Amino acid sequence: MKTFQQAILFSGLTLALIACSTQEKKSTERIELFPLDKVKLLPGPFLKAQQTDLQYILELDADRLLAPFVIEAGLEPMKPGYGNWEGTGLNGNIGGHYLSALAMMYSATGNDSIRKRLDYAIDWLLKCQQANGNGYVGGVPSGKKIWEEISAGEIRTESFSLNGEWVPLYNIHKIFAGLRDAYVFAGNEKAFVIWKNLSDWWINTTKQLTDDQFQLMLKSEHGGMNEVFADLFSIDGDSIYLQMAKKMSHRLILNPLLNKRDSLTGLHANTQIPKVAGFLKVGMLSADTSWIKASDFFWKTVTQNRSISFGGNSVREHFNAADNFSSMLESEQGPETCNTYNMLRLTKGLWEISGFSSYLDYYERALYNHILSSQHPRGGFVYFTPIRPNHYRVYSQPHQGMWCCVGSGMENHAKYGEVIYAHRDDNIYVNLFIPSELDWSENGIQIEQATRFPFEEESLLLVKLSKPKKFDVLIRIPHWIAGDKLLVRINDQEPMEFPAENGYAVVSRTWYDGDKVTVQLPMEITTEQLPDKSSWVSFLYGPVVLHWH
Ligand SMILES: [Zn+2]
Repeated sequence: MKTFQQAILFSGLTLALIACSTQEKKSTERIELFPLDKVKLLPGPFLKAQQTDLQYILELDADRLLAPFVIEAGLEPMKPGYGNWEGTGLNGNIGGHYLSALAMMYSATGNDSIRKRLDYAIDWLLKCQQANGNGYVGGVPSGKKIWEEISAGEIRTESFSLNGEWVPLYNIHKIFAGLRDAYVFAGNEKAFVIWKNLSDWWINTTKQLTDDQFQLMLKSEHGGMNEVFADLFSIDGDSIYLQMAKKMSHRLILNPLLNKRDSLTGLHANTQIPKVAGFLKVGMLSADTSWIKASDFFWKTVTQNRSISFGGNSVREHFNAADNFSSMLESEQGPETCNTYNMLRLTKGLWEISGFSSYLDYYERALYNHILSSQHPRGGFVYFTPIRPNHYRVYSQPHQGMWCCVGSGMENHAKYGEVIYAHRDDNIYVNLFIPSELDWSENGIQIEQATRFPFEEESLLLVKLSKPKKFDVLIRIPHWIAGDKLLVRINDQEPMEFPAENGYAVVSRTWYDGDKVTVQLPMEITTEQLPDKSSWVSFLYGPVVLHWH
């Protein structure tokens, strides 16, 4: 699994490309996150959320989620499909997310029922693709007709429709991504074959289109279609996929970002964020620093000027004016969970290529305050997290709610282990203070992190080694730390401050089995205004936004 996951993460490229902060030290070595199966969550709110999600995923009926794909392939469905968005035009969108969620959950937990469910779904999708006969597999209603029209250059677009149907490209992006994840996270080889065939089908379908026709088509919401082609290139190596990733990159959004211009006000937020995650990958894979800087500019403007204290953005799904957040306070439709799901994906990518802890300050804030809170303790996901006073939230029911945020929600709680640890050569990053265990036994290193943070102000790292070893442990210095310095105690020595690099305390020594590292995490209460500097503030304790009921 390791090789699959590493392959997709910006394979084999020289890094040091983000020139976002010239004061901070750059490195030319590559940071690698650990695959989910190397990081087990230990008891705490995140493990509980993961287990709750696992039950929700198993509660869903794979046959009903597969029905749109089976019907579009001209086969007899095992059961009728679901209703809600699954029966009103976005048929199949949850099925794509479902593959991603199953794959991540299997990698994170090793649960055998989850793996069997994934294998079952992939087997059916292979049957559907074979029945279609041209490489296509998808649940879009009347999909074959739409794709024939597009192939002939007949393209009618609006923001939320393409040739009269509800965002077909957004919909098929989910199955592209689900197949990718089934391969990358769960090692399902059939999924890779289906993904590649589907990609070749798209290349063949669009082979007559001009660049202008591509750009016209991209006015319609299309998820991260550029990203899934960049990902396939990073694994397969055929440059035809990188070319398609570039063709599927929406210039109307990219061009202002290349010029460091924020033209986002009024735009549908979650239409744009996945495009930018794609720009970043295309930039990485084609060593084009301008696309990487454009992605970084987008990230900065969204996190600094357009996000509220818990890490979310947008009102009624659209970016509000950066100098006026009054609508956010009034609307029952505050920040959408999908937006933060996609912002975390972008954040992860930018951190991987830079190693700057500042990216993870946002990641931590959004993870604890928005993502973790977007799932009901007994299961179910929220779409909007409004900050309207005395308002409420609505949670999905397993067989009824089929919104976008149910799809991304199923993934969110499966992958809490994705950035807690990372490494650069033998040196280990500790990014988040979440109870967990890193098993890097092929390198003779295990780290167990025991903490009740944020209910206590420290985290204990227990180092387990097959033999003594010299390496660095880089511990993230959170921006919220009280006293502005991070103190670390090694075994029973006095706590001390270690040299800092890119926002990390670097503890460099020869480690012995059983060494204990206590990270002191003093928090204090702070206030934070809305980005428009109006007279509303959030109260925070460390990274946690405080609520009252
Ligand atoms: Zn959503």
